[in-house]
Amino acid sequence: MTSHPLAQFPPGIAYIGGEFVPMSEAKISVLDWGFLRSDATYDVVHVWRGRFFRLDKHMERFLTSIDKLRMTLPFGPDRLEDILKECVRRAELDDAYVEMVLTRGVSPTFSRDPRDAVNTFIAFAIPFGWVANEEQRNRGIDLHLADVERIPPSAVDPTVKNYHWLDLVTGLYQAYDAGAENVLLQDGAGNIAEGPGFNLFAVADGKVTTPDAGVLQGITRGTALELLAEMGVEARAAPLPAEALRQADETFITSTAGGIMPVRAVDERTFPAGAPGPVTERVRALYWDKHSDPDWTTPVD
Ligand SMILES: *Cc1c(COP(=O)(O)O)cnc(C)c1O
Repeated sequence: MTSHPLAQFPPGIAYIGGEFVPMSEAKISVLDWGFLRSDATYDVVHVWRGRFFRLDKHMERFLTSIDKLRMTLPFGPDRLEDILKECVRRAELDDAYVEMVLTRGVSPTFSRDPRDAVNTFIAFAIPFGWVANEEQRNRGIDLHLADVERIPPSAVDPTVKNYHWLDLVTGLYQAYDAGAENVLLQDGAGNIAEGPGFNLFAVADGKVTTPDAGVLQGITRGTALELLAEMGVEARAAPLPAEALRQADETFITSTAGGIMPVRAVDERTFPAGAPGPVTERVRALYWDKHSDPDWTTPVD
């Protein structure tokens, strides 16, 4: 087998074409619409110390997204769960990043009609990964508010987890140019949207706001809202103007890839309550505590 001399594959196991294979062998056709048109949906669930976190929520979102894109999973949810578990078992990972993907697939005649394509399912388990590295998680990540607009919900439904990332990647380069570590995009009205694979929360006067529209409804976002309610902190999904973010006391981001992570600054503004601020610190601790709660987790075995 030949491979790109620079290609480094993480350890891990994929399920593709009905087989479990090492990551280096997990390949799709260049004619797959998932590749040629970003015509796909996916979901990512994580495993922590041998247990999936909120697997039911991730599977539900994945199945709903498939319906919205008018695709069909070639088997039922029980088989989906078995495949995800088997990827993790074979990969022998205690902490894993587990992705499930359904692409439009290839149409046998390469016709331009998406209804002709045969949908392709792929899953894989690789080592757990973080949006923010360890140093950033300890002292808060520095974000840049880009002037790139997040793809509007009237164009692409953001509640379907998707690979339309050119706006996010363009923004990331702006952030690097500005000396920041990651990026936030806004909508056309100047409200905060989201970043590459994460949602944002701002805390002001003890009240917490996360953008309500134009974002993926992250499972970690939903979890943070539940945990804040449990803590007795007032939290809501509502428009968050860029100006309100600049006035916030503390800010954090949420993602399956890292959970709840503090933000130190957005551009020139360092948040006065510090990073992690007191609310971030409490909700983050509760988030990790829940990883051993049988109601919120599913053992791999
Ligand atoms: C996956 C993702 C998130 C975070 O969602 P989680 O379910 O919490 O991991 C946020 N925004 C975008 C664009 C994403 O793709």
